[in-house]
Amino acid sequence: MLDLGSYKYVVVGSGFFGATIAERIANDLGLQVLVMDRRPHLGGNSFSEIDAKTGIEVHKYGSHIFHTMNEKVWAYVNRFSKFNQYRHRVWTTHQGRVYSMPINLDTINQFYGKSFSPREAREFVASEIARDQIASPSNLEEQAISLIGRPLYQAFIRGYTAKQWETDPRSLPASIITRLPVRYDYNDRYFSDLYEGIPEDGYAKIFERMLNHEKISLNLNVDFFDLRHQISPDCKVIYTGPIDRYFDYQQGELSWRTIDLEREVVNCEDFQGTSVMNYADSDVAYTRIHEFRHFHPERKYQKEKTVIFREYSRFAKQTDEPYYPINLEKDKRIFEAYQAESRKLKNVIFGGRLGSYKYYDMHQAIGAALLVYERDIRPEVTGMPYKSPTEMRG
Ligand code: FAD
Ligand code: UDP
Repeated sequence: MLDLGSYKYVVVGSGFFGATIAERIANDLGLQVLVMDRRPHLGGNSFSEIDAKTGIEVHKYGSHIFHTMNEKVWAYVNRFSKFNQYRHRVWTTHQGRVYSMPINLDTINQFYGKSFSPREAREFVASEIARDQIASPSNLEEQAISLIGRPLYQAFIRGYTAKQWETDPRSLPASIITRLPVRYDYNDRYFSDLYEGIPEDGYAKIFERMLNHEKISLNLNVDFFDLRHQISPDCKVIYTGPIDRYFDYQQGELSWRTIDLEREVVNCEDFQGTSVMNYADSDVAYTRIHEFRHFHPERKYQKEKTVIFREYSRFAKQTDEPYYPINLEKDKRIFEAYQAESRKLKNVIFGGRLGSYKYYDMHQAIGAALLVYERDIRPEVTGMPYKSPTEMRG
């Protein structure tokens, strides 16, 4: 039986945020730390495993591609894994035809049946944008039309976004669509970051290596809220679960999106020719299909079977796994109220995608954890004040 009361550090959640904090406490400070997770495995949403029927590595919670511009994060994660040469490219199906995504010169030329040069395409799309005369875009639809014009918006964005968010794009914040680049050349890379890849031997191994340490104890299949009464009052808790759950939803429930993934093994070598195919039209219920064999071109998988996940998106209920913060105006107010509550708690640090109610990619979760560790955890132990990189440069 674990003596929870003896721990000075308890990390709730073993995703990239929690695992990074625990690894630093054990390796850098040499102190004991307990990591707990309510799931039966480490790694949070980034977890991957070998599919028993095909031998193909699948990302259990949807495709995860590691990409970053941050040298420090890249160096950190490379201590625990090598990455392959995978570069993410996505295609999208609209009315029975396949186009390149994000929208680039190839998409534009194919959609309009043209052979525009970059300058011609820019001028043409500018004339399409001008038709709608949107002075200052106030929602996702207006923002998208001011970026690509109405026809491209209606073909590739409207149906997909409505399915993904179960919300009319006119009621969604403009900021969501600015994540997606629009290019006037043939660059069809999904991400523009310098560093990109899939861990050569899977995500699960990264977490095993990060957390395999004599100072780290692991407690899986346990819910923090069933055990919190056993934790000592002077223990520091790093909590990476949903922030509204921590406060028993006293200030209201934050809205999240969840996804359902439908797994199918298909008797062929290659189902769709690529790792992710989006479905732009609203008459197809799923948003995309993931085919995992394509993430590891360096592996020699069998050729008889392939495994695919169809992804369906919907609002999360309290019993669902929260995946994406929706961040409507009401959510911003509720989150601020929880932040005010959390500032009153001296011994609890809230972090990660769920604890910060922020859309973090993996590299951002690691970067945020390294900052929290260096700024809020290490100085308390070493007595050495935190210096931000700008302060260090003088
Ligand atoms: P999580 O990984 O969510 O970990 C939180 C952990 O806390 C979970 O394991 C949970 O079980 C545990 N927990 C919660 N409450 C409790 C409790 N009460 N008691 C015990 N344990 C608890 N990022 C990329 O960089 N590239 C991608 O391609 C990418 N694709 C994504 C696709 C999908 C479908 C999703 C959902 C996310 C994707 N991400 C991607 C984002 C990535 O998953 C996150 O950045 C990462 O998981 C954040 O790590 P985290 O530690 O903050 O949270
Ligand atoms: N999007 C779209 N069509 C696509 C891909 C993306 O309309 O084929 C929109 C959609 O609103 C999505 C946003 O662009 O939420 C950001 O895309 P990203 O791939 O970052 O979405 P994620 O799955 O990470 O939310």
